[in-house]
Amino acid sequence: MSSKSSTFSILIHYSEIGLKKNNRSYFERLFIRNISNHIYGLKHKRIRLISARILIENINPNDWHLFKNRLNNVMGLSSAILVIESKSEYLSIQDKVDVLIKGKNFNSFRVTTKRHAKSFKKTSIQTNVDLGSYIQKKTNKMVKLSGAELNIMIEILREKSYIGCDKIVGFSGLPTRSQEKALSLISSGIDSPVASFEMIKRGVNVSFLHFHSYPATSKQSIDNVKQLVEILTKYQLESVLYCIPLLDIQEKIMSIIPDKFWVIFFRRAMLKIANIFALQNKQLAIITGDSIGQVASQTISNIRAVSEISDLPVLRPLSGMNKDEIILKAKNIDTYDISIKPDQDCCSYFVPIHPETKAKLSEVLRLDTKLDLDVEYQNALSKVEKFIIKFSGE
Ligand code: ATP
Ligand code: MG
Repeated sequence: MSSKSSTFSILIHYSEIGLKKNNRSYFERLFIRNISNHIYGLKHKRIRLISARILIENINPNDWHLFKNRLNNVMGLSSAILVIESKSEYLSIQDKVDVLIKGKNFNSFRVTTKRHAKSFKKTSIQTNVDLGSYIQKKTNKMVKLSGAELNIMIEILREKSYIGCDKIVGFSGLPTRSQEKALSLISSGIDSPVASFEMIKRGVNVSFLHFHSYPATSKQSIDNVKQLVEILTKYQLESVLYCIPLLDIQEKIMSIIPDKFWVIFFRRAMLKIANIFALQNKQLAIITGDSIGQVASQTISNIRAVSEISDLPVLRPLSGMNKDEIILKAKNIDTYDISIKPDQDCCSYFVPIHPETKAKLSEVLRLDTKLDLDVEYQNALSKVEKFIIKFSGE
């Protein structure tokens, strides 16, 4: 039996879609459409749903590394395995195991069978044991249930079975665009790109809004944010980034408000503009990268004083995460290297030496009566720059 006569496919398991009851087929259809968009240009016969699994049929196994890279970016994907198809008969599965392990270098192995079709006579455990001893006799290699070098995975469905040993684990979550739209406030720092990713992972259709203080600061932050959005676009394939100038507003705040409250008022201004903008664009929530207590502006009092200005819910997916966890995630989603590039963020540039750490809402609201920014808000909004970013391949 040669690998030439074998049909290679990719077997995909999804995550939470399986928990959906009434609208499961809606999520499945969207998930399949997203997979199809992600693997655009890679040769395959078709994508099919079978028994709560997705199969990308008839691929060239030499393209597996290309598929792996793309599939890793598909939200909702729990795992993907390169598999050889077999009839759901024991001897046929055994033949395909031969094809699978031929030329593979390993010292220990295990067999992990999932039998879904009860019409297949052997149980999962019997199949593990029988195939295990078959492989052991043939190769003289040892079975190791935990930490084996080669894990031979077998899924037995009614018509066909699938055998593979190379698996990627995805980010899970929900299919891209299965939820409504939200607007992410993105800086060129580490946190907000991770926060944006976490919401993309939950299926939210995320657009991005960045504030810059050009010409008081360089345009580097805009370039860095563009690169970050390009990376995040791997996961949702198309994104819109809006850039809005904040300098006039910051200058007015600095001329009227005591310096220890500056950052709070900058944040309020950002959130106010984001609210006006989001309502115009049918985005139903704002996303930020705040993590409780990380910096002065992210204490609960200050978050309250900032959020007060927002009619829309503010989603803060990182609120409970530690910095090292956020950094790990940033590395994992490939945003870290750009996030640590030096630039001047619009807020850090004007940070006072002793910022307020526990702003009283009443004090903030009292100061707010002295500040009329309506004209500046409209002015800033009229200067919005829009960038449409599409996933370009790799
Ligand atoms: P980040 O790493 O995301 O910049 P941070 O820890 O530096 O976060 P802050 O600078 O206090 O924290 O920003 C808190 C949040 O406010 C950010 O996560 C982001 O959502 C938003 N934000 C900050 N600066 C900007 C900006 N220039 N444009 C848009 N949103 C911003
Ligand atoms: Mg920042």
